[in-house]
Amino acid sequence: MSGKIKISLEDLFELNGAEIYNPDYYKPENAVSIDTRKIKGRCVYVAIQGEKFDGHDFIGEAVKKGADALVVNKRKLKKIFESKDFDTYRIAIIAVPDTVKALGEIAHIWRKKLNARIISITGSNGKTTTKDILASILSEKFVIVKTEANNNNHIGVPLTLLSADEKTEFVVLEHGTNHFGEIEYTANIAEPDFALITNIGDSHIEFLKSREMVFREKSALLNAADRKGGTVFINYDDPILKKYKENFRNVITYGFRNRPTVKGKITGYEEDGRTRLRISYKKTDREFVLSLYGEANAINFLSAAAVALNAGVGARELDKASKNLIAAKGRLNAIKLPGVFLIDDTYNSSPASVDAAYKLVKKIKGYKKKIFILGDIYELGKQSAKIHKELAEIFKPDKNLYVLTIGNYMKYAGNELKKKGIKTIHFKNREELSLYLKYEELKNSVILVKGSRGMAMEEFVKIIKERF
Ligand code: ATP
Ligand code: MG
Repeated sequence: MSGKIKISLEDLFELNGAEIYNPDYYKPENAVSIDTRKIKGRCVYVAIQGEKFDGHDFIGEAVKKGADALVVNKRKLKKIFESKDFDTYRIAIIAVPDTVKALGEIAHIWRKKLNARIISITGSNGKTTTKDILASILSEKFVIVKTEANNNNHIGVPLTLLSADEKTEFVVLEHGTNHFGEIEYTANIAEPDFALITNIGDSHIEFLKSREMVFREKSALLNAADRKGGTVFINYDDPILKKYKENFRNVITYGFRNRPTVKGKITGYEEDGRTRLRISYKKTDREFVLSLYGEANAINFLSAAAVALNAGVGARELDKASKNLIAAKGRLNAIKLPGVFLIDDTYNSSPASVDAAYKLVKKIKGYKKKIFILGDIYELGKQSAKIHKELAEIFKPDKNLYVLTIGNYMKYAGNELKKKGIKTIHFKNREELSLYLKYEELKNSVILVKGSRGMAMEEFVKIIKERF
């Protein structure tokens, strides 16, 4: 083990409610694991009870693979001491009331030992995209660690921090939320130097009730940065974020309107819809052609640039990064097929992101038809029917526009679209839509596919790809 940062015995004594057995066998470790499949050698193994599996059932395997300290739940201690899988008297065992919390505490201790600066991102839409853009800009110049995929919860955030080491210069974290208080919890673990909320939208409104409540939840991230004298990045185009700017000490604003500190201007579009974006901030005043599609990604890039320019990156590195950005799977992924421009936006959906997708498709030149394949938006609670109906307001009548809908709620959008004279077909089930896509004339069209995760709209992307 080469890493210099280690978790000491004293650190483990600090864990809330910890009792330590066989402490003499503890050697300071620089790796923490919760998954025996990923153990590469010596480490602290934290046993976590998941939905399907209980980490306590894999302790024997963890020890076999090199774990030489175990963090376990107090209630399971008796069973662990009875285990015949390993010598329970020759391994440090740390018993705690809650191993998930202990993982968070260990990650926080680790975070304090890191030299890296921590950048935390949350928001209603665009967290993963912004995180990936920022990470690729920063990696032009720095050693970075970022949230893998979408591991943005109370387990993913600690694990990402723990994957950084003494060489790491920046950690770029995504923070997500499924219940009130989750952002505050992961924000306190991360103690960010830079914090960014992409926007405050309708997503997760089912449990957060209103935009103000969504802000209350997410602002915990900004508060955590503010408390330690860090910098807060405010999307000045977002009315709620703009309103609360005064709550924070070091603020950098960015946006397209309202005279922000870091100003973006969309100066035009390439034939294939790629955005030309001008960014003005201090000495930087330069145009970038983004390899990612859509207006939403222009603001995602702008926000990432605002952070990066304050983290010591120059315009030259920004320019290089802007050309090589790769869309994450299912997020406005442009796939050019013979005669068809397919846009896979199937990762998720929200009213704001349907609007963004519509605006993008409108910009793309050189194809006759524009086809939208839309599945339900989830997590809208009681407002589901109303919000789906309102989706129709996004679409303007156009003789070359076709909307194919699927799902119990998207039917409402379909009805409204028909009233506006837009060609719409609602499909009662997946088989019918699949068949339609196989046989209908799709040549010479831009096709955008989108829906909430649970709608698995990528199935339809696959069918279209197979045809061409
Ligand atoms: P999740 O909550 O699932 O983690 P996320 O916030 O990480 O989502 P992304 O995965 O980056 O968001 O993007 C999801 C979808 O949101 C994209 O496919 C795109 O349609 C839309 N989107 C991305 N950026 C923005 C933005 N700035 N404003 C509105 N919509 C956006
Ligand atoms: Mg995400």
